[in-house]
Amino acid sequence: MQKLGNYILGTRIEGDGDGQLLLNAVNGNPIAIATTKGLDFNAILHYARTTGSPALRKMTFQQRGLMLRALALHLQKHLDKFYALSYATGATKADSWVDIEGGIGNLFANASLRRKFPDESFCLDGESHQLSKNGTFIGQHILVPKEGVAVHINAFNFPVWGMLEKIAVNLLAGVPGIVKPASITSFLTEAVVREIDASGILPKGALQLLCGSTGNMLDLLSSQDTVTFTGSASTGLLLKSNPNILKENVPFTMEADSLNCIVLGNDINPAMPEWEIFIKEVRKEITTKAGQKCTAIRRIFVPADRVDEVQQALSAALAQTTIGNPLNGQVKMGALAGQAQRNEVREQVQKLLASSQLIYGSLDSVSVIDADAEKGAFMSPLLLLNQQPLDSTAVHEVEAFGPVATLMPYTDMDEAIHLSRMGKGSLCTSIVTASDAIAKQYVLGAGCYHGRILILNSDCAKESTGHGSPLPLLVHGGPGRAGGGEEMGGVRGVKHYMQRVAVQGSPTTLTAVTNVYQQGAKGRLDNIHPFRKYFEEILVGDQLITGNRTITDADIKAFANLSWDHFYAHTDHTSLEGTLFEHPVAHGYLIMSAAAGLFVENSAKCPVLLNYGIDEMRFTKPVYAGTTIHVRFTCKEKIAQETKDENDIAKGIVKWYVEILDANNEHIGIGTILTMVAKKPSV
Ligand code: NDP
Repeated sequence: MQKLGNYILGTRIEGDGDGQLLLNAVNGNPIAIATTKGLDFNAILHYARTTGSPALRKMTFQQRGLMLRALALHLQKHLDKFYALSYATGATKADSWVDIEGGIGNLFANASLRRKFPDESFCLDGESHQLSKNGTFIGQHILVPKEGVAVHINAFNFPVWGMLEKIAVNLLAGVPGIVKPASITSFLTEAVVREIDASGILPKGALQLLCGSTGNMLDLLSSQDTVTFTGSASTGLLLKSNPNILKENVPFTMEADSLNCIVLGNDINPAMPEWEIFIKEVRKEITTKAGQKCTAIRRIFVPADRVDEVQQALSAALAQTTIGNPLNGQVKMGALAGQAQRNEVREQVQKLLASSQLIYGSLDSVSVIDADAEKGAFMSPLLLLNQQPLDSTAVHEVEAFGPVATLMPYTDMDEAIHLSRMGKGSLCTSIVTASDAIAKQYVLGAGCYHGRILILNSDCAKESTGHGSPLPLLVHGGPGRAGGGEEMGGVRGVKHYMQRVAVQGSPTTLTAVTNVYQQGAKGRLDNIHPFRKYFEEILVGDQLITGNRTITDADIKAFANLSWDHFYAHTDHTSLEGTLFEHPVAHGYLIMSAAAGLFVENSAKCPVLLNYGIDEMRFTKPVYAGTTIHVRFTCKEKIAQETKDENDIAKGIVKWYVEILDANNEHIGIGTILTMVAKKPSV
């Protein structure tokens, strides 16, 4: 039998021994052997830290993002291969789409996230802080990539997405990864890594794959490394309490058993569109991926007087589920990942049945098409009913990781909130309601026990991504039983792989360190107007001190007429008593416009292409007629842009720190404006 490759140390290496035989979930046929026996885990970690890490850290966020994009485009060319193998995990085409194309979509989303980061290998975290009276001592948090490796120990249910959603983030942060997929479906992960390896898109050592055991690797990790774990709470706890992980303070993110729930708002009746939305959502969550989703709905709370109607509607909906060989296009639900999984689900259901009754489906039999129900790990969807959810614990704590959910009554919204919290922490919860007041009550009452809350009504249901879909830009994780970790979440996720360091010093030094102008830093004056410079020629800290302009009463009147802004503070010459002003005050936008008149290059064409907008603007002191203003105009930050095609002008965005000052050099206004600036024409 063919052994899966371990992609380590820059090559493909097979492990020793008999390993674990991996079987097709649909027909039980052997597929491959997974083994890591005989591998040198110390060498694998060393390779990531000394080859992958320096290569990634040298790259900027923009380069890493483009690398992810190239990888996503490359993997898209091999979809057929991945789908063919995915069927062998029991997944239908729709399930496989979530796993494979959802995973690739995650690479694209993280590639686009590069635009939220500078063209540097590190980034700033928040604003700088003035730490002294005269402004000569400031502090700024920055984030630098950790110099270790991200070890991902993944669950069996999403062999592709589980890997790609995690590595997209650590690679964007500049950290290499080692992926250890759950063995039983690792043949699909291996196929994807084989293509990644063949593409040569990632630097050497940026990604390594282990198909089989992690050996003694956790004993060898240090504080620069991170571990993410997805799987059962018991394994998670075992690994998290590894003495070396504890001693070395290795960050450990865990995503484990989560008793996710949905609530039908007590404002909903069967005649409302939200009723159908609710039934569809629950059916989808029970049957998609045969319920083997960390986010699947396990607990269904409905108003006590609606239990019978919901039971009937859900049973009718579940009866529409064609089960069988996922290669058959009619099949809506495939097999579980293997016989062991099915046995485990059955055992868990038995625990639930001690306090619940089965109201739809059968534990022992299932009718399937195009497959052998016993050789394949098929299972009927199961709907249970628990009439006393307040007095039961099993229903809030036992996760049957298959097509299983339990229906439960509640009396009022406070009770529904209480019941949702009895799961002691989940990845996500949904509420279906047409009342925004009920939605708010639920979000604020249940929020601290869940990682994500979906509020479904007829306004958003059609475009909703659904209860069970973690999204790259939103946090995926949850408190308590859900593991207490957080993955993804856009920029937030990237920060998990970076070290936050508070840097203190003078504004000039911190400008040099961060390449972002800090207020009070020394500027660089020269004879060339900054608007006459191409993008590459402008340096952070380039500064212009403008000439003066005195704002007159006529200016204020003219601006009111031009803009149609006749607000009393600018126009009332008879009585401003009881207001904040002594005289008609100049419009803030007049001051900003006058500032622009002072700082722009007023003569011929120049590399500045356009005014791109204002990031922020504050008016800090009233300007009355007779005030003379001038501007200190400093390059704060530069963001290079990519050209879209050969006709596009090569350009970048320059942020300018605008300080509008009066004759005493006191601030009247402070802002950050943006210009689009051409790059030097290539010769
Ligand atoms: P496990 O916790 O057994 O395995 C999860 C991962 O941990 C796998 O990659 C597994 O590898 C690995 N692993 C297991 N033991 C060790 C160890 N001693 N050292 C290092 N790695 C280890 O979960 P399963 O995937 O088998 O699923 C079991 C149950 O977990 C499910 O039935 C379900 O209840 C729950 N689960 C929950 C999820 C959630 O997010 N809520 C997701 C998936 C599962 P290997 O496969 O090689 O053993």
